[in-house]
Amino acid sequence: MTRILLLGGVGDALAIARRLGPHHVYSLAGLGRVPDDLRCEVRVGGFGGAEGLADYLRREGIGLLLDVTHPYAAQISANAARAARQAGIPCWALRRPGWQAGAGDDWREVADWPALSQALTGFRRPFFTLGREALGHLDGIPDGQFWTLRMLDPHPGNERTRVIAARGPFRLEQERALFEAGGFDVLISKNSGGTATEPKLQVARERRLPVLILARPALAPVDRTFGDVDALWQALAPLR
Ligand code: NAP
Repeated sequence: MTRILLLGGVGDALAIARRLGPHHVYSLAGLGRVPDDLRCEVRVGGFGGAEGLADYLRREGIGLLLDVTHPYAAQISANAARAARQAGIPCWALRRPGWQAGAGDDWREVADWPALSQALTGFRRPFFTLGREALGHLDGIPDGQFWTLRMLDPHPGNERTRVIAARGPFRLEQERALFEAGGFDVLISKNSGGTATEPKLQVARERRLPVLILARPALAPVDRTFGDVDALWQALAPLR
């Protein structure tokens, strides 16, 4: 049996981890909830870059590295591709497809924070769903803007910011109520794909709000990629 190291941090990874036996390892950065009801081994915290990860792979006799991290977690994905090469083992990845704009959507892709700042000109009540990234910019909120930020952990914000600490998945009704109460005039989102955080996009469509989408980072090439959990799980069958 090949020993698998599964890099996680998203719901898809947890779904795979739940099916892995005790021979395998599930790894989390430690920012979110750590499950205590899995059959596989769970480890928490960074490895110390690609070199540290390569050492871990050799030391623990890992035969396959699975990258099921978030599509915007570019650093760990780059480290995974490099470390697997160094350790001489394959790296497979779940590369979740992004959301696609449909009829009635007004999505505007922005490359980075300066482009996003520029695109926010003229809006008054933006709703940020980028995680912690907006926290570094609270001192630069333009006059006339009030920011609402949603992220995993609480933060005091400031007089022109409200921080909502919440974990997905988010239901449509819940999102409708939040948009109504917040009076948002623009949504800021990553293009994460998947269903857990998708309802906010439907609400933006219903309310005819523009959505500023932070472009996906380019990810390192790996040996095999899969578009969903089932395809990856099937490919693992001979190895588990
Ligand atoms: P990142 O910038 O790519 O990674 C930063 C560092 O965190 C990595 O260099 C690594 O430290 C450590 N790390 C990340 N994932 C790890 C894992 N599964 N196991 C062990 N160490 C890990 O990642 P990020 O954007 O900060 O995201 C951190 C975690 O949150 C990821 O696991 C990701 O899947 C999850 N997440 C991210 C987002 C997002 O929008 N970025 C959203 C939802 C969930 P060392 O270099 O020391 O090994």
